[in-house]
Amino acid sequence: MITHICDRCGRPIEEGQLRYIAKIEVFAAADPLEITLEDLLRNTRSEMDALLEQCEKLTEEELMRDVYVKFNFDLCRACQKAYVTDPLSPASTR
Ligand SMILES: [Zn+2]
Repeated sequence: MITHICDRCGRPIEEGQLRYIAKIEVFAAADPLEITLEDLLRNTRSEMDALLEQCEKLTEEELMRDVYVKFNFDLCRACQKAYVTDPLSPASTR
C-alpha cells in the first residue's frame, strides 16, 4: 500500500519502506545592530512611511515569506542519499 509520495522524484513510497523527512527552515538572518549618532539624529519618518507603503501592497503571506518559510518534504531512500550528499544542488532543491 502506498503511504507517501517522494517529494523529490515523485515515486510512491510503500508502507514499510524507508522514508525520510527533510525539514527546511529559511529565515532572515539578523546581524547585531550598530546604531550610530548619525542614525539617532536622522529623521526616519519618511523612510518608515515608504516602508509602510511598500508593505501595504503585499499580503500577510507575502510579508511572512520574506522573513520565515518552513518546508517539510518526504523523501525515498534514493533521494535521501542524493539530498544529503549535496543539498544545495539544483536537482536537490527543485
Ligand atoms: Zn525520491
